Amino acid sequence: MTTRHDALALDADDALAPLRQLFQIPDGLVYLDGNSLGVLPRATATRVAQVVSQEWGEGLIGSWNAAGWMALPQQIGDKIAPLVGVGAGELVVADSTSVNLFKVLSAALALQRAADPARTVVVSERSNFPTDLYIAESLGRQHGCTLHLVDRPEDIPAALGPSTAVLMLTQVNYRNGRLHDMAALSAAAHAAGALTVWDLAHSAGAVPVALAADGADFAVGCGYKYLNGGPGAPAFCWAHPRHASQAWQPLAGWHGHAAPFAFEPGYQPAPGITRYLCGTPPVLAMAALECGVDTLLAARPLGGMAAIRAKSLALTRLFIDLVQQRCGGHGLQFASPDVDAQRGSQVCLAFSADSAAGQAGAAFAVVQALIARRVVGDFRAGDAKDGLPDILRFGVTPLYTRFADVWDAVEQLRQVLETGEWREARFNQRGVVT
Ligand SMILES: *Cc1c(COP(=O)(O)O)cnc(C)c1O
Repeated sequence: MTTRHDALALDADDALAPLRQLFQIPDGLVYLDGNSLGVLPRATATRVAQVVSQEWGEGLIGSWNAAGWMALPQQIGDKIAPLVGVGAGELVVADSTSVNLFKVLSAALALQRAADPARTVVVSERSNFPTDLYIAESLGRQHGCTLHLVDRPEDIPAALGPSTAVLMLTQVNYRNGRLHDMAALSAAAHAAGALTVWDLAHSAGAVPVALAADGADFAVGCGYKYLNGGPGAPAFCWAHPRHASQAWQPLAGWHGHAAPFAFEPGYQPAPGITRYLCGTPPVLAMAALECGVDTLLAARPLGGMAAIRAKSLALTRLFIDLVQQRCGGHGLQFASPDVDAQRGSQVCLAFSADSAAGQAGAAFAVVQALIARRVVGDFRAGDAKDGLPDILRFGVTPLYTRFADVWDAVEQLRQVLETGEWREARFNQRGVVT
C-alpha cells in the first residue's frame, strides 16, 4: 500500500518541484485539468499589464517596431520549436488550433492532389477530438475528399493505402490518453504514399515530441493546455521545411504575404512557414503565451522535456496504482493505457454505474462531486452508438502537479465513491462547459 507519506517523500526528492513556485495556484486546490486549461504563471499578469500600459498605452502604433510586436509569431515559435523537435524559423504562432489545422490539412491535401488526384482519403481516429474531425469533414466538402475513421489504434496502418492522402492524428488522444508512436505511424503513412498531419494539443509541453526525427509532415498545437498560455491562447503550426514553401495555405492574408507593408493588390506568399500567418497577431494574448512557454523552458536546466516526461509517468503510474489499491469494487475501468510508452500525461477512467445517476450520467456526477471537494479533473461525454464510454480525465502537469496532489485526488475519489455522494441531485446539473 502506498501512503500519503510515500507521496510526500517523492515530492521531497523531485528535482522539478521548485517550478511550482512559478505558478499562481489557488490554496488547497488539486488541479488535474492542465490538459484543458493550464494554470496561470506568476509572470503573466505583470507582463500583460506592462504590454497594456507601456507598449500599447505609451508606445501606441510605434510598438509594432519598437516593442517587436510584428516578430512575435516567429519569436514565440522559436521558443516552442525545441519543445517539439524542430528548428528555429520552422514554426509560427497564430490563430487557433482548429484554424491552423484547416490551413495545414488544406496544404497537405493540395500537395497530394497535385501529385496524385486519386488520393482523396483522410484517415483518422473516430475518438479524435471533434474539431479535428469537423475541419477534415468540411475540407472534404470543399475538395471532394472523404474521411475514413478507425476505431482501434492498432488498425491504423492497415487503413492506409493507395487512396490515402493524409493520416491525421492527435499524438495523444484527448479521450483515452493514448500516445501514438509518431515514428512508426509516419513511416507507415509514407510507405503508403500518404502525408501526416499531427495535432500536438495534448503532447506539446507534456511529452517529448520529435517532429523532424519522427518523420512528421505537418503539425499544429494548442497554446492554452500544457503551454500555459491562458484561455484561448494562440496556437501554433509547423510544416516540414521541404513542404512549407510548396503550397499555398487557403487563408492567404496579409501577414503571410512576402511584403505585408508593400500593400500590393496581388498575393505573394512569404517563403517558408511565415505564409501560414493570416492576419494581425493578438499581441496581448501573445504576451501571455510567451510567459507560459517560458515556464516550460525554465525546466531546461533541470532536465527539460525528458525530466518532465519521467515525472509525468511517475505521477500517472502513482495515480493508477492508488486507484487499484483504494478504489476497487465501484466499477471504475481504466480507459488510458497501462503501458508507460503508450500513455500521455493523463489518466482516464470509464465509469457508467447504474441509472440512479440521473440524466447527466455517473461519470459527470463523480467529477462534479470531486470539484466540490476541490479536486479538479474533467468529464468527457461518450457516445454509446460509437462505443465510446463516458470518461473521467485527470491530467498531470509535472511543472506544478505534486505526488501528494495525486494521493489527495485519489483519496477524494475513494470517498466520493464510497459515500455514494455523487448520486446527489446537486451533482447532476450540466453546465455549458464540461
Ligand atoms: C484542445 C484541442 C483543440 C482545441 O482547438 P481550438 O481551436 O483551440 O478550440 C483541438 N484539437 C485537439 C486535439 C485538442 O485537444
